[in-house]
Amino acid sequence: MRPARALIDLDALRSNFRLARELGGGRKTLAAVKADAYGHGAVACARALDGEADAFGVACIEEALELRAAGISGPILLLEGFFDADELPLIVQHKLWFAVAAPWQVDAVEAFQTDATLQIWLKLDSGMHRLGLAPAEFRAAHARLSALPQVAPMVLMSHMARADELDSPRTREQADLFAATIEGLAGETSLCNSPALLGWPDVRSDWVRPGLMLYGANPLAAHNAYTERLRPVMTMQSKIFATREIAAGEPVGYGARFVAERPTRVGVVALGYADGYPQFAPNGTPVQIDGQPGHLIGRVSMDMLTVDLTDLPQAGVGSTVTLWGDAPRLDVLAPLCKVSAYQLPCAVKRVARVLSGG
Ligand SMILES: *Cc1c(COP(=O)(O)O)cnc(C)c1O
Repeated sequence: MRPARALIDLDALRSNFRLARELGGGRKTLAAVKADAYGHGAVACARALDGEADAFGVACIEEALELRAAGISGPILLLEGFFDADELPLIVQHKLWFAVAAPWQVDAVEAFQTDATLQIWLKLDSGMHRLGLAPAEFRAAHARLSALPQVAPMVLMSHMARADELDSPRTREQADLFAATIEGLAGETSLCNSPALLGWPDVRSDWVRPGLMLYGANPLAAHNAYTERLRPVMTMQSKIFATREIAAGEPVGYGARFVAERPTRVGVVALGYADGYPQFAPNGTPVQIDGQPGHLIGRVSMDMLTVDLTDLPQAGVGSTVTLWGDAPRLDVLAPLCKVSAYQLPCAVKRVARVLSGG
């Protein structure tokens, strides 16, 4: 069997979740498990946090129904609301919560006849300028929806665009605009994604909404005392299944991107960009080989990549290679490859997931 594996440590997930909850000050915590829990497996991750998370956040009804089918019975929020008013009966049937973040969604809720109670998170565009009602529309939408007997007290939410940049005034500006816009309105509030939760203590409010930090990657541009406590959840691993010795001056792989400067022993690893490893990881990108620091050489292929074994005489066929995990960490690897720590685990496919700590 091909040895590529994504080991998923559910104890680390729970530990990161508890850190998020602690930072939220014991307030309510929504765990973002959209995009298959950022590639970690939404069902396994939601089960591991079931009973601890106050709600789960997903991108669409398809993702919510997958969790319901797996027995997750607590609150699930559709973070982008519905994409078509046709989804409202299913939303009611499965007792889903949903964001209302565009004027047409307000109209659709008003027009929808139901005996059920609708749990809405009303979203303000406080400066991200992607989704959410404009400040000038927000209070009118709040009044219209609050007047409907089927609408429960709403959570008032907004989303931060630059919370990872601790020196940007933008997060403060967004929080101030949010506070001014909702002044006097009833309802719990929610502003914090992971970077806001880790970096902006005074923005925390009734609900926090961590995503990336649950999976153990630091979303901030720099590390701080909290990010040091994050435990990587995914370990991406495979094995060396061939080796060869090449002379100085000989190239390795497509495009001869690596040319040996010394006699070099090359290890071939059963994992490539079709598994989610970044194709343009540069020569020298760190890996661990049987627990020892090593590095990538040559361009990553679809199904394979190559590492330098010259200084690791014990390593050979059968050696375990860790592409990310405790070392190198996702948040260290990603910038070296000019991608984000969000994107790497989301791109994982084809490798078998192996759960522990369930
Ligand atoms: C994905 C998402 C989050 C979580 O964001 P992270 O940066 O991964 O913590 C929070 N809120 C909303 C609305 C989201 O879509």
